[in-house]
Amino acid sequence: MDEPHQPDPHDDEEYQPSSLARRVPIPKLFESVEKEGPFTECLQCGANLLDSGRQYVIEKVFRGPEAIIELAMCLNCRDESGQCMSAESAEAMQAFFDARVSFSGRIDELLLRREPAAESGAIDDWVDRCMFSGQPRSEMREYQVVALCSGQEIIRDFFPIMISGEVMKELAEVLSEQTKGWMDDFIETNFGMPPEFCEPPEFRPVLI
Ligand SMILES: [Zn+2]
Repeated sequence: MDEPHQPDPHDDEEYQPSSLARRVPIPKLFESVEKEGPFTECLQCGANLLDSGRQYVIEKVFRGPEAIIELAMCLNCRDESGQCMSAESAEAMQAFFDARVSFSGRIDELLLRREPAAESGAIDDWVDRCMFSGQPRSEMREYQVVALCSGQEIIRDFFPIMISGEVMKELAEVLSEQTKGWMDDFIETNFGMPPEFCEPPEFRPVLI
């Protein structure tokens, strides 16, 4: 049987959740530190995210207890920003995911085998370990979390995901110089990060 492709936040179609998906309230981990509450608008176009019912992505990068990058973006803008990524990088990122994570395997593991935990609104099982390496979040200095949301809820399915700083580093290595340059510019423009931000030097946030 063909393995279904990973959900692609850069796809211009709305993500179609699996039949096992559940909408759960957005927990504090995915709230905006800057706004001291839920993300309310798209970083790029300013569209209201909470009332429109449109899907959007929340992404946060942590160093220790501090969220050093946080953003919410509607899928339209997500798609447009994805077009700034070189085709070669987009393919490489897809291949990285496809080779290392099974879409249906993750859903089976989280939604079928861990009942009744999956019955609750908790997302701990989704984000407590790196999706790729299995390393516990409590042991990490840097990590990134990504959620797909709609209105005031997370669509809990394949997402939310957590990726360790170690794996983010590996992921950055498959991207083209052009894409890395674009991501660095994007981060600097939106978050005002100085180049020294990448301390230790091998750490580089990747927009998923
Ligand atoms: Zn937008």
